[in-house]
Amino acid sequence: MSIIICTIKENSWVARLAARKMKSPAVAIVFGHKIHLYGADRQRFLRDVAWVRHEVCHVRQYRRHGFFGFLVRYLADWIRNGYFLNKFEVEARQAEHSPVVMQDVRIV
Ligand SMILES: [Zn+2]
Repeated sequence: MSIIICTIKENSWVARLAARKMKSPAVAIVFGHKIHLYGADRQRFLRDVAWVRHEVCHVRQYRRHGFFGFLVRYLADWIRNGYFLNKFEVEARQAEHSPVVMQDVRIV
């Protein structure tokens, strides 16, 4: 079984754009294995177990579908169902309660 390495980018401009769009003071957005943060630093993010599980679930979704495969599917589902009900967000919210999502994951 392979280890899943996730990295963190603090003060990310792309997460800042997302924060503005979503009118949220703190946002994380995942591209591949990199978790982009805005409005929360690495320590605050890592203290929030549910939040970390949520974003790691998105990393797993990228691994499942491939980088562009995931982005295309995510966008298509967002257009169809909106942000909250898109199936990738539904799965990530369920993962917030699931410790197993962190199995073999290292956040560096
Ligand atoms: Zn999400």
